Amino acid sequence: MTPRNLVDDEKRNALYQSLPSVSEVLLMPMCREFLKSYSRGQLVDAIRSTLADLRFEISSGDHTVPSIQNDIDQIPNAVARYLTLGAAYSLRPVINATGVILHTNLGRAPLSSGALRHVVEVAQDYCNLELDLDTGLRSHRDAHAEALLLRVLSQESSAVVEPDGYGVVVINNCAAATLLALNSVAEKSEVIVSRGELVEIGGGFRIPEILEKSGAILKEVGTTNRTRIADYENALSAATGLLLRVHQSNFSMEGFVERPSLQEMVTLSKRVKLPLFEDQGTGLLSSLERVGVRGEPTLMQSFESGVDLIAASGDKLLGGPQCGILVGRRDLIERIRKNPLLRALRVDKLTYAALEATLLEHLSDASATIPVERMLSIPSEEIMCRCRVVVNKTMSARIVLDVVPVNSLVGGGTAPKASLPSCAISIRHSVLSASDLLGALRRLEPPIIGRIEEDVVLLDLRTVPSSFDGDLSSLLSSL
Ligand SMILES: *Cc1c(COP(=O)(O)O)cnc(C)c1O
Repeated sequence: MTPRNLVDDEKRNALYQSLPSVSEVLLMPMCREFLKSYSRGQLVDAIRSTLADLRFEISSGDHTVPSIQNDIDQIPNAVARYLTLGAAYSLRPVINATGVILHTNLGRAPLSSGALRHVVEVAQDYCNLELDLDTGLRSHRDAHAEALLLRVLSQESSAVVEPDGYGVVVINNCAAATLLALNSVAEKSEVIVSRGELVEIGGGFRIPEILEKSGAILKEVGTTNRTRIADYENALSAATGLLLRVHQSNFSMEGFVERPSLQEMVTLSKRVKLPLFEDQGTGLLSSLERVGVRGEPTLMQSFESGVDLIAASGDKLLGGPQCGILVGRRDLIERIRKNPLLRALRVDKLTYAALEATLLEHLSDASATIPVERMLSIPSEEIMCRCRVVVNKTMSARIVLDVVPVNSLVGGGTAPKASLPSCAISIRHSVLSASDLLGALRRLEPPIIGRIEEDVVLLDLRTVPSSFDGDLSSLLSSL
């Protein structure tokens, strides 16, 4: 070691020694103030992190006697930053300007205000989750969804539905619903399914894998593009336990394509006395034809046509909380209720509260209060007007804004062919590339999530609450 290094080490040691101890920092007046808002543990953690930063800076040779003195005076401010950082939420609201209504990465369906109020009301105190208030006896939690969902489903039904003959089970999501249904009804028996429906729904959810995990035995029929009702019939044997139909929700096939109608499958299942299970997926209640999307099957249609058991998501086109809904023949639902797996897949009171409120809104014709419903039906002219207002109010020398026609998507693996005519604000930045600009938008508060098309950043306002338009101008002006 050369003498010069020795001198450096001595200097460094002196700097280290000038640092206060944790207990000395705790005694600083400002730090004592922090104890009003934070626990002693949080405060000690923040002080340790601050002192560790200073030690690291000293070891890297970043400090002199005056500079360390200055930083020691600044310790309370640094501690305050750590305290705020440590208490910050990881899960934060963002502005979805992608135009994808059911965006899986952005939490799919936002809840209605009514659903939120009901969640708060039910969660902040005790509730009758499993208590029958009439009898004082234990009840089951699905009571809070069952009668209501059956009312929603039979409300516009032309078929005479005997609600007593049906039941409802709510679980964690639609994938869980499919797993639970297959395991309850068809474990160790054959399930006949078309090769054209052995799909991957997204996020790695593959129907054949779920089938295998459920303990059912896959019996594939038909080809990718063509399956006829006779194919199902020919595959029947004493080992068959179930006929399965999967909604090809996230892709569409065109050309030389054939698949039996749902009605044909219902007829076959009744004739051979085997239950038909449909993974309907989207939970769509009323037809999307009103917004120009044709051919997207509804939950009502499945229910009306007499499918024995249906699985659907709560947070796709139903517009409610994340959950899976199984609705079907009472005897099948009873088998599902007896399955020990249900205990592992059941949902909590928050989900029932949000689902119940969403269903009531569907029932009351107040469905425009459900964000997904509202976003689906905003006319593109209205979105164009909003884009113009935001563009006109935005003042920044560094960006060039324009209003352009675009197509919004339903998303969430539903209605793949459907695009809703919409309008977007296009943004070009004088310095930033499109992807850097997209990043800058994400770092705003709240973060704004846009998309890039042909090298330009687009903000589709269909999925942005109109109450945010004013803030959007200010935030864009800051770019
Ligand atoms: C989306 C979808 C699923 C998966 O639903 P999750 O609620 O995400 O588990 C399953 N089946 C179909 C047909 C779907 O559309």
